Amino acid sequence: MFATSIAGSLPKPEWLAETQKLWPQWKAQGESLQQAKADATLLWIKAQEDAGLDIIGDGEQARQHFVHGFLEQVEGIDFENKVKMGIRNILYDTMVPQVVSALKLKGRVHAMEAQLLRAHTKKKIKFTLPGPMTIVDTVADRFYGEGEEGRIKMAMAFAELLNQEALALQADGVDIIQFDEPAFNVYLDEAADWGVKALERAAQGLTCTTAVHICYGYGIEANNNWKKTLGDEWRQYEKVLPALAKSSIQQVSLECYHSHVPPEMMALLEGKDVMVGVIDVASDVIETPEQIADSIGMALKYVPKNRLIACTNCGLAPMSREVAMKKLQALADGAALARQRYA
Ligand SMILES: [Zn+2]
Repeated sequence: MFATSIAGSLPKPEWLAETQKLWPQWKAQGESLQQAKADATLLWIKAQEDAGLDIIGDGEQARQHFVHGFLEQVEGIDFENKVKMGIRNILYDTMVPQVVSALKLKGRVHAMEAQLLRAHTKKKIKFTLPGPMTIVDTVADRFYGEGEEGRIKMAMAFAELLNQEALALQADGVDIIQFDEPAFNVYLDEAADWGVKALERAAQGLTCTTAVHICYGYGIEANNNWKKTLGDEWRQYEKVLPALAKSSIQQVSLECYHSHVPPEMMALLEGKDVMVGVIDVASDVIETPEQIADSIGMALKYVPKNRLIACTNCGLAPMSREVAMKKLQALADGAALARQRYA
C-alpha cells in the first residue's frame, strides 16, 4: 500500500553537468561523459534505495533534457540549425531542432541507463520517455506539413519510434514505462482528441505497466509566472482525465500538494492507479512526514487505497542535490506514516 516513486528526473551532480538548469551543458565529453552519466545514475539508484523508495528510476542522468535526450537518437532531425519557437502555447521561447525528413531511430536510446538500473536494484524499476504530443510541441516541423493534420501525422510518427524504444526497455527488464506529457494541459482539446491516441500508439503491445505523467511543469520562473495566470482553481485536467480514464494507460501521475488542482479531479481517474504528487518541486522547503501523510489522507477521498502511489509533483532536476536527497527521504517517511495511519 502507498508505494513510493519519483516522477522522473533528479538533479545532475556538478561534475556531470551544469546544475540547476533545465538544458545544462555537459562537463565531460566522449567516453568520459558516458562514464560520468553511468556514475551519476548509480549514485541516484543508491540514494533512492537508501531513502527506502519502492520504485526506482534512473533520475534521467544521461539525457540533457527530457525531450531532447530522445530526439538525439532520431534520424530526420536537424540539430545543427535550431530555430526559435514558442513552446507550450508560447509559454516560453526556446531554441528547438527541426524535423527535416522521415523519422527513424538511429538505434537504442536508453539501453545503458535501463540495463544499469536493472542490474543494480532488485526493486521495481520505472523508466520515463517523453510523450508524442510533448515532443511535437518541442520541435519545429519542415516535413509533415502545416496545421493540425501535420501535427497529428508527426505525433504518430514519433509515437511509433517511442514504441520501439519502449518495447526494448521492457525487454531490458523495466517494470513501468511512463510517458511525460506536460503538453496535455496546455492543448486541452487536442490532448483529449489525438494526444491520448498517440500515447496509446506509443504504448502499443507493452505488457509491463504503462503510465503517463501530466503536470504544470517544473518550478522554473516561466512556469511559475504562467501558473499565476491560471486563477485559483486549475480545472484543465477536467478535459484530459476522462480521456485518460478511457485509455489503455494504467497509471496517471499528477501534482497535488501545493497545487491549485482541485483534488476531486482525481475521482475522474476511476479504474487507474494514481501517482499522487505529495512533494512540491517548486519549493526548497522539505515536507514533513505529517504533511505528506495528510496529502495522502486527502487523496484517499478520491482514490482507493490499493490504487494510490505516493509520488513527487514533477521532476526534481532543477533543485539542489541536497534538497532533492532530503525530499526523497521525506517521501519515504511520509508514506510510511500514512501506512500506519490508514492501514
Ligand atoms: Zn512534470
